[in-house]
Amino acid sequence: MAASADARNPDKTDPGRQAVTTLPGVGPALADTLRKLGIEQVQDLWFHLPLRYEDRTRITAIGDLEAGEPAQVEGVVEAVEAGFRYRPQLRVAISDASRQTLVLRFFHFRRQQAQQFAPGVRLRCYGAIRHGQHGLEMVHPQYRVLQADVAVEATLTPIYPVTEGLGQQRLRGVIEKALSRLPGEATLELVPPELLSPLGLMPLRDALLGVHRPAPDADVPALLANRHPAQQRLAFEELLAHHISLKRLRALVRRHRAPALPGDAALRGRFVAALPFALTRAQQRVSEEIARDLGKGMPMLRLVQGDVGSGKTVVAALSALHAVANGRQTALMAPTELLAEQHLRSFREWFEPLDIEVAWLAGKVTGKARTAALAKLAAGVPIAVGTHALMQQGVEFRRLGLVIVDEQHRFGVQQRMDLRDKGAGRGEAPHQLVLTATPIPRTLAMSAYADLDVSTLDELPPGRTPVRTVAIANGRRDEVIERIRDACTEGRQVYWVCTLIEDSDLLQAQAAEVAFAQLRATLPGLAVGLVHGRMKARDKQAAMDGFKDGRIALLVATTVIEVGVDVPNASLMVIENAERLGLAQLHQLRGRVGRGSQASTCVLLYQPPLSGLARQRLETLRSTSDGFVIAEQDLRLRGPGELLGTRQTGAMGFRVADIVRDAALMPAVQRVGSAMLQAHPAMAGRLTERWIGAAARFAEA
Ligand code: ADP
Ligand code: MG
Repeated sequence: MAASADARNPDKTDPGRQAVTTLPGVGPALADTLRKLGIEQVQDLWFHLPLRYEDRTRITAIGDLEAGEPAQVEGVVEAVEAGFRYRPQLRVAISDASRQTLVLRFFHFRRQQAQQFAPGVRLRCYGAIRHGQHGLEMVHPQYRVLQADVAVEATLTPIYPVTEGLGQQRLRGVIEKALSRLPGEATLELVPPELLSPLGLMPLRDALLGVHRPAPDADVPALLANRHPAQQRLAFEELLAHHISLKRLRALVRRHRAPALPGDAALRGRFVAALPFALTRAQQRVSEEIARDLGKGMPMLRLVQGDVGSGKTVVAALSALHAVANGRQTALMAPTELLAEQHLRSFREWFEPLDIEVAWLAGKVTGKARTAALAKLAAGVPIAVGTHALMQQGVEFRRLGLVIVDEQHRFGVQQRMDLRDKGAGRGEAPHQLVLTATPIPRTLAMSAYADLDVSTLDELPPGRTPVRTVAIANGRRDEVIERIRDACTEGRQVYWVCTLIEDSDLLQAQAAEVAFAQLRATLPGLAVGLVHGRMKARDKQAAMDGFKDGRIALLVATTVIEVGVDVPNASLMVIENAERLGLAQLHQLRGRVGRGSQASTCVLLYQPPLSGLARQRLETLRSTSDGFVIAEQDLRLRGPGELLGTRQTGAMGFRVADIVRDAALMPAVQRVGSAMLQAHPAMAGRLTERWIGAAARFAEA
């Protein structure tokens, strides 16, 4: 393919495709760090887009602060208190001309740092505002001590995805250098003008400069909401690249053969008879659709969408039976060890009575256990369950016939491409089955998964007690905490979910630590656990295990528990700042309760006053538990100016695009995509390389 030849031998005259080391000040060490972010060429820096912006162009008076909003504040230190009640903490009260006080709270601090905060010192701080025990507070703000008047920033501050050893400041500098090499529009643009101009989008060069260096007079609310014309232009381009890459992936896979895996009625009969439940009609229908695909000698590429709790795992197991019946191996992968272990448990329960062995491989399987697991896979163990570790180099299957990927949105295109290489070789590829609970509206499913056929599990197993959902204002927090005490006394288990709109692990973790300390103090005698993304995997696992075993009654968590955690005895969930989350995410979270026979409750704790849209969102959740209805409603409710969507973006692995918010772009994306694949395949290849970078280069090789 012409495009692949280009990709391996970068055109030295194209400034975008030169190595990052050609930029001044970028040596081999920095290049290694950049590679961790998928950045190898200069153009990778152009397309390394801000995750979000911080608005440090103004100072907000303390009296005007609102919980949940990030803000920049300037004030004078009034009082300092270092305490060790539950763990070390430093509290600094500042006030300003509005004569109101704001508390800065630190859980980790050095002694010199504490000494900086003498009364009378002037500070400028930036951080998220939250409700503390005594009014508003900022936990771990960024701050500087002011000796004299200092001007505020003239433009929005872009915040980039970074990695260990590379901070915002340094990365901003490198991107700045890369931008100075941006060529003129004619060289930069890859979409042919006859396809592009009817769309009336902003030129690519202006769009890139507009997002990396917003002008002082830029439309701030639009930028913050990812609705600026510059972002729309880039979103179009990203969706186009994604669409093209999926179409090509499908075409590539379809060039291979796959082993035909007809079903074995007797084996299936024994499997189904041993299940403790009867299959739903939807499960039967979807597994028939899968059986038809598997019976052909062409690789299946099928997505099963089904709401939380619709019973996707058993559908996966039924398809694995086809592989078993034909002497082929199945690999089942989940995005986290937590989820993968849950699948392992279900699969062993179902398959071992039939004498079908299930092997286990995850990152934490090391040493002798790993050697043994690898030997099993190579010897042809019928089923392997694990994480992405299953697809890494050095893992060999004897006769892989089927790959099942759960919660697809957590895996990127890259991982799907890795699958191809694990096939039986000689032009054969394994069948692929993808399971997802992301309720993408039906109208969008086709474009989101351009490379897959879609089956829908549109029915929940019978006998579920629906989750009662109530919205309660934060002012009644104490009552809610009392309810937790009652529930736990009755032997029920409870989730307390801390949320922040900020896409920041750190801030989320801090919010959880604060809630954890508070709940432990208010509920003495209750076993309280904590799980957040910044904890060591071992500690996280210990807390989860404790909750699963029932040793922990109340689990304080960030949204890390959103996907797939299954503790049937948990029947109460409290979601803090529920008004800040999108519908889809709230629905996913709520799906963690209502899994047992007990009546479950989900409390949406919100901070009044609610905006009209927030009110409608909470109302939707109260009135329905159908994931697809919720997804359609989500699409409808997202009016202009809504500050949602960062999560959705992250979930689909996009940088600027959001499949729901940018739905209106999809018809054009499909039209331009098909035209480019037909008439301009080399340009199409370069476009995907730009956006998917190293992954695309790898796939073409
Ligand atoms: P999800 O689609 O969210 O992955 P799971 O496969 O984890 O759902 O199933 C959720 C729960 O429902 C599991 O405990 C599973 O054993 C149970 N389940 C699955 N199918 C049925 C059914 N047809 N009838 C009753 N329970 C079922
Ligand atoms: Mg599942």
